[in-house]
Amino acid sequence: MNYTSLAGELQSLVQGSIRTNEPMKKHTTWRIGGNADIFLDPSDKEDIRQAVEFARERSIPFTVIGNGSNLLIKDGGIRGLVIKIGRGMATYSIEGTRIKAGAGMILPELAAAACKNSLGGFEFGAGIPGSLGGAVVMNAGAMNGCVADVLVSIEVIDHNNKFTVIPKGELGFAYRTSSLQNQGLICVETLWQGHAKERRQIEQETKEYLAKRRLAQPHGYPNVGSVFKNPEGDHAGRLIEACGGKGLRIGEAEISTKHANWILNMGNATAQDVLTLIETIKKMVQERFGVLLHLEVRVLGED
Ligand SMILES: Cc1cc2nc3c(=O)[nH]c(=O)nc-3n(C[C@H](O)[C@H](O)[C@H](O)COP(=O)(O)OP(=O)(O)OC[C@H]3O[C@@H](n4cnc5c(N)ncnc54)[C@H](O)[C@@H]3O)c2cc1C
Repeated sequence: MNYTSLAGELQSLVQGSIRTNEPMKKHTTWRIGGNADIFLDPSDKEDIRQAVEFARERSIPFTVIGNGSNLLIKDGGIRGLVIKIGRGMATYSIEGTRIKAGAGMILPELAAAACKNSLGGFEFGAGIPGSLGGAVVMNAGAMNGCVADVLVSIEVIDHNNKFTVIPKGELGFAYRTSSLQNQGLICVETLWQGHAKERRQIEQETKEYLAKRRLAQPHGYPNVGSVFKNPEGDHAGRLIEACGGKGLRIGEAEISTKHANWILNMGNATAQDVLTLIETIKKMVQERFGVLLHLEVRVLGED
């Protein structure tokens, strides 16, 4: 396919910016990933609808990403079109105890907006750097709170390129997952339900919670937070640590010495370094404990 001419055609349909051969490492918190053939930074949900329709009509594969904070993009990059739902779609409005927000807003911004308006329920999101769309897909959560607790509904672009509202009950939420992970729907807007809570109390709880996170989590090197889901009744980090995994390194990818469920990019780690480390960890944990770890991180792209 001639992606340069397709990119030109698509640019005439959307307001947002289009680039070709875009390094995806610029768009993941791991700072890892090959190039995307065509990359769209949409300015609104109609841009996304146009782009998806354009791709579907021409059988161009497309991929939607948010803040790239739960993604491993392989070294060969992503074929076709990548749509990054980010800053252009980060507006919000508040009515009573409900917040409507674009899928590109990030969870800490939602938590801050809620706090400013004396709305509780969003404190868990203050330390999670995901976009609201990505957070819904992953049912992101921490410290006894998660997306499913406060979400009311989302607006998606469906398989017929139409905007449709889906209520929370139809999103198949469970631990770090939702039915959106397999449905090919694109989340463009979100509606949340908070509850009245004193601003000072929210601020205090958020401060304590962020301090706890800072103590427990590594910083200084690019990462995606936890790599594996916790197996029922246990912690992936505990199992990896018990196998002597802390500090284990392949190429420039290293298991954090602070938290064994985090893999850090120590410089120029490749996706292959990370994938090899992931396989090594899985084998170690399975052999020692008979537990098969499952990835929380989503893997996209080509070798
Ligand atoms: C320092 C750090 C700390 C973290 N702590 C936590 C934590 O405490 N709890 C937790 O749950 N997670 C945590 N994470 C992981 C991550 O932030 C969450 O999983 C977050 O929800 C991912 O959102 P994102 O926008 O970055 O999604 P991405 O990583 O961009 O994408 C994730 C998946 O969602 C899909 N997707 C993204 N946006 C959309 C959309 N609008 N419509 C349809 N599909 C979409 C992508 O295709 C991909 O499959 C942490 C990450 C980091 C770097």
